[in-house]
Amino acid sequence: TAFSDLALRPEIQAAIAAQGYATPTPIQASAIPPALQGRDLLGIAQTGTGKTAAFTLPILQRLAEGGAKAGPGTIRTLILTPTRELAIQIGESIANYGAGLGLRHTVIFGGVGQNPQVDALRRGLDILVATPGRLLDLMNQGHAKLDGLSIFVLDEADRMLDMGFIHDVRKVVAKLPAKRQTMFFSATMPDEITKLANRLLSDPVRVEV
Ligand code: AMP
Repeated sequence: TAFSDLALRPEIQAAIAAQGYATPTPIQASAIPPALQGRDLLGIAQTGTGKTAAFTLPILQRLAEGGAKAGPGTIRTLILTPTRELAIQIGESIANYGAGLGLRHTVIFGGVGQNPQVDALRRGLDILVATPGRLLDLMNQGHAKLDGLSIFVLDEADRMLDMGFIHDVRKVVAKLPAKRQTMFFSATMPDEITKLANRLLSDPVRVEV
């Protein structure tokens, strides 16, 4: 498979070329086509496999295809990830691959002031990248509403469990609209994570690398 086989918009193809990527990694080749069709995805993959682009590229394509931009106070896509470092990296990938698309995204995590985060949420976001604790705080204060969401990504689900964030994750996912695309990534599948995946995913394509 070549990136040019993946039916991505020219702006995204140009961004991929600018990164110097020649061919999709195995998880990208397997995950991107079904994700572009709106299928749910169970990705069993570690960091370093190219999984960030595997979910980011189809998200950007689908949001850009939809045309409409996020209205005030709405969140079209949520990417939950366990750490500030991962959140920042995913935000950078979105900025790189989505440079030509005019989509609005932001990254929120704890340990910093929440006012700029609240302002970004108020304007509306095509993509929100967040760690679970801070997102839940903002939801509980009424600053983050998930009812307009159409795509949800849970990144590094097993690490969420290891780091003690799984309860916060459960509280966040309880507020997701039923009709959505879900992409679920985990390096390992312990029982508790398998149960969560079964609850969140609908007829998923399973990709293991
Ligand atoms: P990730 O697993 O998403 O953390 O990505 C691991 C590293 O691989 C990152 O530094 C990416 O920039 C890089 N990468 C992702 N996709 C490709 C690709 N198709 N070709 C070469 N490098 C890539």
